[in-house]
Amino acid sequence: MRRIAVVSGGNRGIGLEICRQLAGRGIHVVLASRDAGRGSAAAKVLAEQGLSVEARQLDVSDEASVAELARGIEAEHGGADIVVNNAGIAMDGFNAEVARKTIDVNFFGALRLTDALLPRMRAEGRIVMVTSGLGDRRSLSKPLKAQVGKADLTRDELIRLMRRFVDDVAAGRHTAEGWPSSAYAVSKMGLNALTGVVARELAGDGRGILCNAACPGWVRTDMGGAHAPRSVEEGAETPVWLATLPPGGPQGGVFRDKAPAAW
Ligand code: NAP
Repeated sequence: MRRIAVVSGGNRGIGLEICRQLAGRGIHVVLASRDAGRGSAAAKVLAEQGLSVEARQLDVSDEASVAELARGIEAEHGGADIVVNNAGIAMDGFNAEVARKTIDVNFFGALRLTDALLPRMRAEGRIVMVTSGLGDRRSLSKPLKAQVGKADLTRDELIRLMRRFVDDVAAGRHTAEGWPSSAYAVSKMGLNALTGVVARELAGDGRGILCNAACPGWVRTDMGGAHAPRSVEEGAETPVWLATLPPGGPQGGVFRDKAPAAW
């Protein structure tokens, strides 16, 4: 049976290249994009290269859009085999609104899409979180570092921590509370921790689903800028590797260049 992959933020940058590489392996790719027109245009380019790709609208910050995508995947394909949580934002500046939006897209967006598709995932499914080297816990205070990195951290504890960061920024106390002044960094720490949470929740699930995070490195995209050292092909390599892991592969880890990365 043909495998189905869903890639968020698939219309440009690393996400588009992940779509290209997965489709190049004979996987049918659902290129999910916030803007339907931009998604269709990107999917058309890949289809013209002979790849099996369809576009679907998906705004990971919009619960209804996520639910609609999940319904469509179920109706059209009966489920999914691969979910790549690639959609992300890196906003200019730092204030309460930047913190709220960044955590909402980069952390809660991945959680929403994973929760919506997980019940519809088939055996040996793969979930990939596209994270960043900036999601390093060293920039947290000692107590926060311990909380985020707790081996038995639960989803409720993690969600409370992410909400606390947003509240602390809004109240002007985030530095005193031990957070760095980077919403992007905190969102990716949250995503790394979420990878472990989802992996632990999958214990005993029986479907052999693996959930891991990939840091693409610094990549030449709209987000990474023209001077980044890596191409999108290089940036997509580790996410695609994790998306196509053979049975018995790693679970709950953070990887860079296909090797475990400290965070
Ligand atoms: P990019 O070129 O800015 O593309 C970001 C993608 O995410 C776009 O498709 C964008 O859609 C989509 N997106 C943003 N908000 C969304 C939302 N609410 N719902 C659905 N899609 C949304 O960035 P990139 O460099 O390819 O980055 C891809 C991933 O890699 C991100 O998670 C990023 O944090 C991570 N990353 C990148 C680098 C780097 O150096 N580039 C390094 C480390 C990690 P629109 O086109 O509609 O805006």
